[in-house]
Amino acid sequence: MASPDAFVTTSEQETFALAETLARTLQPGTFVLLHGDLGAGKTAFVRGLASGLGVDPGDVSSPTFVLIQHYRGRVPLTHVDLYRLDNAAAVDDLGLEELAAGGVLAVEWAERLPRAMDSSVTVTIEDMGGDRRRITIASG
Ligand code: ADP
Ligand code: MG
Repeated sequence: MASPDAFVTTSEQETFALAETLARTLQPGTFVLLHGDLGAGKTAFVRGLASGLGVDPGDVSSPTFVLIQHYRGRVPLTHVDLYRLDNAAAVDDLGLEELAAGGVLAVEWAERLPRAMDSSVTVTIEDMGGDRRRITIASG
């Protein structure tokens, strides 16, 4: 694994811009595995990913009750939130690799995935107080 890049953002907009930049480097079929507590900024990060992939970021919401959302774009984005899913077998049944095939798949609460994903970028967001967030991005 390449050594992770670490950033500190001081607003939601900065987090959005960081994710937008990352998205432009992603190959179709990549998983973006998001880690961080509630309110850390995972969904905000996914909105930035959407923008970088040519998806309308305004379409991206917190899929609190909807487990999986698909967005059409230059590169399609699939957004999964595993917060309410604690059964690893159920996650497996989602067939995430198939879902990611032609696009980017962003997973909130990725620690609930039952197994490692092949092509992935791991994004960890820590709340440092106020609007400061430490964001580490590691590929591999
Ligand atoms: P999560 O999906 O991790 O639960 P959300 O993205 O839904 O979190 O919410 C993050 C909240 O934190 C939003 O209200 C956002 O405006 C706020 N926020 C404050 N500072 C930042 C920052 N630097 N980056 C991202 N979000 C931030
Ligand atoms: Mg969220």
